[in-house]
Amino acid sequence: MKVLLIGSGGREHALAWKLAQSPLMTEFYAAPGNPGIAEHATLVVVNVDDHDALIAFCKDKTIDFVVVGPEAPLVAGIADKLRAEGFAVFGPSAAAAQLEGSKGFTKDICARYDIPTGAYQRFNNAPKAKAYIRQHGAPIVVKADGLAAGKGVTVAMTVDEAIAAVDDCFEGAFGAAGAEVVIEAYLDGEEASFFCLCDGKHVLPLATAQDHKRVGEGDTGPNTGGMGAYSPAPVMTADMVERTMKEIIEPTMRGMAESGYPFSGVFFAGLMITAKGPELIEYNVRFGDPECQVLMMRLKSDLLPLLFATANGTLDQVSAEWTDDPALTVVMASKGYPGSYDKGTPIRHIPEAGDGAKVFHAGTALKDGALVATGGRVLNVTATGKTVGEAQARAYALLDRVDWDNGFCRHDIGWRAIEREKSAVR
Ligand code: AMP
Repeated sequence: MKVLLIGSGGREHALAWKLAQSPLMTEFYAAPGNPGIAEHATLVVVNVDDHDALIAFCKDKTIDFVVVGPEAPLVAGIADKLRAEGFAVFGPSAAAAQLEGSKGFTKDICARYDIPTGAYQRFNNAPKAKAYIRQHGAPIVVKADGLAAGKGVTVAMTVDEAIAAVDDCFEGAFGAAGAEVVIEAYLDGEEASFFCLCDGKHVLPLATAQDHKRVGEGDTGPNTGGMGAYSPAPVMTADMVERTMKEIIEPTMRGMAESGYPFSGVFFAGLMITAKGPELIEYNVRFGDPECQVLMMRLKSDLLPLLFATANGTLDQVSAEWTDDPALTVVMASKGYPGSYDKGTPIRHIPEAGDGAKVFHAGTALKDGALVATGGRVLNVTATGKTVGEAQARAYALLDRVDWDNGFCRHDIGWRAIEREKSAVR
């Protein structure tokens, strides 16, 4: 099979690493890719926003299957355009990608299909939004409706904070993404991520994960794209997984199909495990980054047939096997991230990792033949172990051998799961 992977982050490096192991793979391309992905695939120099150029490339190389990594091209309709040209694609249509592209859309699906989530209302002007906040009080959550690179959500502990967030949205802090605002009830509990493949008619559960969004140790400081993750999420017991499938995932699949937007791709459900059980915080329509890195480390099955069955509507004919061993990834970021940071700093050495460990590239490039950091989040140092504690120790031991002066990381990735492991032993 000739495969094109779209994307250039750590998520796509993990997908590329796993896809390249498939015996079904005959030719493998990545657009635009990164130096880590280049170990597994031929990089294609094309602007991924230029859909016509991508289609021309696929025709030229007679590509059999396109795997879309990030959300932006999906929301922009790349999967629709490729399908219209006859290509098999992993990733939802633009209409179905609204599950990530519009928080209001997702909340309406939840309301219509009785999916547990915080009570909410949608607003397109500030006065009504503020009146709603004053009526309901804090804590309360204010969200820009559209894609805002993870920055459009304010969990407001006071009414004033919520009102300021409404002003930010309607004054254009998030551009068009803030033209509409969703205000929802605050949910109290432990967060977890749940991943499934869905082909429109069938759903295949994959695995669970937890990530660390804050930049600082102890989950403090500003939000980031994610400073680390581990899988599985201990809070997602077999019972919670079963409830999530029945109460959230299956009704979403049915609801999307009935509403005329059959969903094909990955459901990445952000959950709050509350006293009542699992409640939906949000959907993403692609793998999480860095959650994908830990999922790929734990997946024993060939990834390519799983993604292809998703695109073909034959998910009922495949299954996924996982190692029970936990995996953990630590993000190395450029000093200053998530604020401003230097670009182009040299990465002198990345260690070879053995079995069950891997350094994935997220924001790197080659400059005059030398590896440099180009992004905020730059490397994902990933390892498995018999426990989360062991995976953590292996990941940090590997990270210590990375030679990059301008990098930093959190030193407590996995702390919550490790605390649980310790109290289970006591
Ligand atoms: P989202 O982009 O919707 O995932 O929101 C970003 C983060 O805000 C989530 O990971 C949660 O930590 C928090 N959050 C979002 N919605 C709620 C909610 N209704 N209650 C409590 N926390 C929330």
